[in-house]
Amino acid sequence: MAGKLFGAFLILLVLLPFEINSQEFKSLQNLEGAQKGDITNGLNQVKKYLKTYGYYHHDIEHTLDDQFDDSLESALKAYQGYLGIDVTGKIDSGTIGAMLTPRCGVPDHLVSNYNFPGGRFKWTKRSLTWSVQNSVNVFSEDELSPVLTAAFKSWADVSQLKFAKASKGTRSDIRIGFFPKDHGDGNPFKDGEFAHAYYPQVGWFHFNSKWKWTFDPSGKDGKNKVDVQSISVHEIGHLIGLNHSDLKSAVMYAYFAPGITKRDLTQDDKDGIQALYPK
Ligand SMILES: [Zn+2]
Ligand SMILES: [Zn+2]
Repeated sequence: MAGKLFGAFLILLVLLPFEINSQEFKSLQNLEGAQKGDITNGLNQVKKYLKTYGYYHHDIEHTLDDQFDDSLESALKAYQGYLGIDVTGKIDSGTIGAMLTPRCGVPDHLVSNYNFPGGRFKWTKRSLTWSVQNSVNVFSEDELSPVLTAAFKSWADVSQLKFAKASKGTRSDIRIGFFPKDHGDGNPFKDGEFAHAYYPQVGWFHFNSKWKWTFDPSGKDGKNKVDVQSISVHEIGHLIGLNHSDLKSAVMYAYFAPGITKRDLTQDDKDGIQALYPK
């Protein structure tokens, strides 16, 4: 990633108004009650959402139009099943609520998204180095480093993996930074995405600079801001090979909210990493 390329975006970002709710989903509320057989303006947005996060099989051509077809119904059911809400196959209020919730940009099901190759990949070595390489200067390297160190420690404590900050001028295995929406890796951020990271052995971890970030959501300036450490623990999970968990309490659950912290690994997260790197 060539950080210099993105200088132009810095200026743009300052001028853009901050917004949380996805432009793409303005009309989502109007779709409540839609079901198989319907043709409803805006259904194509739901199809695109489900495709983005891996709920359509990649080997079939899908028309992302406004027709509520069989594939949309089965994709919706898979999505509702992942969320643990009623599996109705219709667009109900629970489904709409979920789609309006901000989340991680990595798909829940990886078979269908070749931009995030994944599944069974893992690092061949056990000692990994990392570095901060910001495109947008939300926080300095000195500010970020202790928080990232703590996030890496969460995983090192429960696995054989070891993480160390790379010394200046050396190439690191993992490269972490804040980036604008379009940042040259083929996966521009959607409005509702906090961050994304790539599976082994790519090593890229990108924060979405559009959100308001904090090191302490309970502090006086932290209200409604996104906790850097919580998101870091989650994205590092992807960096070392974990997929999303369907357990809401798990760090590896795809959805998250500003203003809260979720920094501690659950048993589900620990089981995941220990299965990937057995002793
Ligand atoms: Zn994720
Ligand atoms: Zn990226």
